[in-house]
Amino acid sequence: MRRFHRLTSLLLTSGCSLPRASRGPLISCLLLLASVCSAQDIVIHHIDVGQGDCTFIQTRCKTILVDAGNSGKGKSVVIPYLKSLKVSHINYVIASHYHADHIGGLDEVLDAFDVDTVFDRGTLHPVPRSKIFASYVKAIGKMPRVTVQPGTRYKIAPRIVLRFVAADGKCEGDQPTVTDPATERSIDENSLSIAFTIMYSETSDSSVPDHALCPMLSAAKSAYGGRHAPCPVFTYFTGGDLTGYDDRDAIDLETSVASLVGRIDAMKVNHHGSRSSTNQTFISTLSPACVFISLGRNNSYGHPAPEIISRLQHTPSIRWIYQTEGNAKAAPKQKIVGTSVLRFHARGDSSYFTVEWYANGMHIDHYWCTRAKLDVDP
Ligand SMILES: [Zn+2]
Repeated sequence: MRRFHRLTSLLLTSGCSLPRASRGPLISCLLLLASVCSAQDIVIHHIDVGQGDCTFIQTRCKTILVDAGNSGKGKSVVIPYLKSLKVSHINYVIASHYHADHIGGLDEVLDAFDVDTVFDRGTLHPVPRSKIFASYVKAIGKMPRVTVQPGTRYKIAPRIVLRFVAADGKCEGDQPTVTDPATERSIDENSLSIAFTIMYSETSDSSVPDHALCPMLSAAKSAYGGRHAPCPVFTYFTGGDLTGYDDRDAIDLETSVASLVGRIDAMKVNHHGSRSSTNQTFISTLSPACVFISLGRNNSYGHPAPEIISRLQHTPSIRWIYQTEGNAKAAPKQKIVGTSVLRFHARGDSSYFTVEWYANGMHIDHYWCTRAKLDVDP
């Protein structure tokens, strides 16, 4: 009931009027809100595509789709979901890397929507010789296709910056490759994943500093004569299947990424919770308030790895681990939620975000996202 009151007040303050509360109208109203791009500052949908990845991000009239699950999931899950949000145009499609559980459904989505630009890791390292990759390239056709350069930032809305921190086995600030990649050792496709942050900042300058450089908000405010310090107030991270350990062909990129990104508010866990990712330094440095894991029930990879779940459970900043799928009996901090929606609301000192999902009824969790008041909702 308490959650219900919170949700009702959220809807009312968002300008969505309801007659008498019932779940049907509430859900319709939520879907309507999701389609109004100015209603929230950032909306992040973690779409349940089974074993694979798919994230849809809306930021004040700009939209970003990251991956679309395995082949067939575009038509069966992603396209109907986006159409239910009244989406007809996608500004950016980002292929995190070229494994089938990420790009398999992208050809279907690219065929179904107008897309401004497709971002991927390019072709410097060998690409898969698979029908799925060929279908992906064919579907791009004449659409603008951009190879991601780590360190590139795009201002995608007032005060909102998309920052690429890793791609193709390199991190922001790394020296460009001077050797012929063909003579280098082969690199695990997972290590070539694109990692990026979405940051909402109190400053409209795109060269916003990172959480790692920001003092606590209260101290920063006095230093700025009572005005808001130019610090990000919300940061979200996602990194495909980015690796966190040097092992055979894999590279530990997470440790470098952690020093670049610093503290964040929410993130998608790399590589479906595999033991090849989420190293201790990485998760301790990012210290998110909540994390999301995309995976399929009873998958053959053993995702998520028990030791990674344990590491997340023992990370003090993390309040909940949201999984798209998993075993019915969840461990402490774990929630099996199917598709979920994160909504960030910029309110100065009182900025907050919510996570909502509809599995077995409607649920909503609330988080404060200023560093001074992180995660205080009882
Ligand atoms: Zn994957």
